[in-house]
Amino acid sequence: MTPETNSTNPLDMKETLDWYGDNKREILDRLPLVLRGTGFSLIHPLSIERNEFAQDPREFFYTLIARLPGAAVTRSTLKKIEFFKPHWFCRDTEVPTATDEVSKAISPTAIIPSKTDYSDWQKHRPASNIWMYQIKGLDEDVRTIVHAQAFIHELVHTLTAPAIYADHRLRLPNNIVVSSLEFMTEFAKEAQKLPPITHYSSGYRNPDGSFKNNGPQGYQIAISEEMCESAAAQLLGFAFTLNPQTRFEPLSDRLELRKQVYQFLNARREK
Ligand SMILES: [Zn+2]
Repeated sequence: MTPETNSTNPLDMKETLDWYGDNKREILDRLPLVLRGTGFSLIHPLSIERNEFAQDPREFFYTLIARLPGAAVTRSTLKKIEFFKPHWFCRDTEVPTATDEVSKAISPTAIIPSKTDYSDWQKHRPASNIWMYQIKGLDEDVRTIVHAQAFIHELVHTLTAPAIYADHRLRLPNNIVVSSLEFMTEFAKEAQKLPPITHYSSGYRNPDGSFKNNGPQGYQIAISEEMCESAAAQLLGFAFTLNPQTRFEPLSDRLELRKQVYQFLNARREK
């Protein structure tokens, strides 16, 4: 990764944060009402600072989980949500690496808002945990938007991980039954015909638009990231898309992918 403050680095949220800040009213209108003005921040360990926060913080996560169709919630491998102090993407590393020291970060806006942890994953019982990181020094509304988008993105990881690594059969809304791995492969094929959906997911593409091969897990990381960003965009109705015309109608320039995302989110697991 390019060091210093290269604002086009996909791991640096600067441009995304600026766009969130400039459009926060319109974005907040797309989020569940209870998330507004929560002013909460996530503090390590396992506690949520609630100085100005009158509601149960679990509501933040429950209302976002409720954005997913019931079929997706049923398939999700989410086990628990954990909270940590702020982290950033480290500069001068070959692969994206986390640091809790801002002085070592690509830039102060190269924040890591969340991640999915697979340490509880077992072959016969896939399980995922979502880690949410505190964010310091941003506008309260922007922080809410970042955490909401990030949490939905991670929730979709709790669907893509079993789909890719624990291949199972999915009954799509049109009643056709498919292999989850084959479904994701088809999605990848379509996705690579188009530019990456967001600034963030552009970090997983080669200059010719093909998915990057990210080490031992190959292309699967890139496929997952594109699905998570696309599904979050569809569920929330906004995204910092590369195409400035579609930020409030994020999949309107990719109808085949929109259909696939809808099918993926509404598929039931076939026994
Ligand atoms: Zn991701």
